[in-house]
Amino acid sequence: MKQWHLIIDVEKCVDCNNCFLACKDEHVDNDWPGYTRPQPRHGHRWINIMRTERGQYPIIDVAYRPTTCMHCQDAPCIKAAGGSIVKRPDGVVLIDPDKAKGRPELVKACPYQAIWWNEEQDVPQKCTFCAHLLDQGWKKPRCVQACPTGALKVEYVADAEMSRICQTNNLEVLQPEYNTQPRVFYQNLYRFTKCFIAGSVAVNNNGVIDCAEGVRITLFSDREKLSAVVADNFGDFKIDNLPGNSGQYSLEIEKSGFKKATVTVELTTSQNIGTVYLG
Ligand code: SF4
Ligand code: SF4
Repeated sequence: MKQWHLIIDVEKCVDCNNCFLACKDEHVDNDWPGYTRPQPRHGHRWINIMRTERGQYPIIDVAYRPTTCMHCQDAPCIKAAGGSIVKRPDGVVLIDPDKAKGRPELVKACPYQAIWWNEEQDVPQKCTFCAHLLDQGWKKPRCVQACPTGALKVEYVADAEMSRICQTNNLEVLQPEYNTQPRVFYQNLYRFTKCFIAGSVAVNNNGVIDCAEGVRITLFSDREKLSAVVADNFGDFKIDNLPGNSGQYSLEIEKSGFKKATVTVELTTSQNIGTVYLG
């Protein structure tokens, strides 16, 4: 059976907030009977763009992660709601606006903090996957339609096909330890969850300090070679997707005609090692 899935590419999100505004445009002051009451103008973020920064000046990297209800297959909110939150056959999880009236405790039932309390309407609310539009034949919800970079997309496929898509594109779920089987998947989540080692390399060319373009940097852990990169024309390099707090690494920095440099790094969080000068 086909179900809806949302795929979010963290590398493509530029924090333009078009998705957030599209969600507001669709739901603020609009009542969708059977789906959800109007969303309040302020306070609710049914699509919430989280931000993280990595590294130290001048090598800093900022990433954004839009977050919605995960439309979990094994949803704790449904277990807590006694019939007032349901999972539809197409995978969408909906809070029944009539049955959930007067139940603020349901906000705490979601481990992803995706449920918001609407004081004026006296109901818990969250992302509906724009089910009122899907039921009219729309092929994507408003936030996905509004994203100018293609950071958000949907797949309406059966589980086997979704597993294949996940494998091919290296998709991950948020907080897999919650064991809720989310139907929202992330691409390039390493920008949020992993670390980098970066730096610059310079050479002394007869008394002139110059950027070491093309210098080769090889990363080792316990003498095992993990990866190798080549510095850009500013002599800058970055080795990404390393686990935080993962111990000691060594970098071998080589350029023909210069003495090889070795730098040791204790990796706790993303690290800019500064400028290494090859003599
Ligand atoms: Fe329920 Fe939270 Fe899962 Fe959404 S993310 S289905 S609100 S438990
Ligand atoms: Fe808002 Fe619809 Fe996107 Fe959910 S799917 S965040 S309700 S626009």
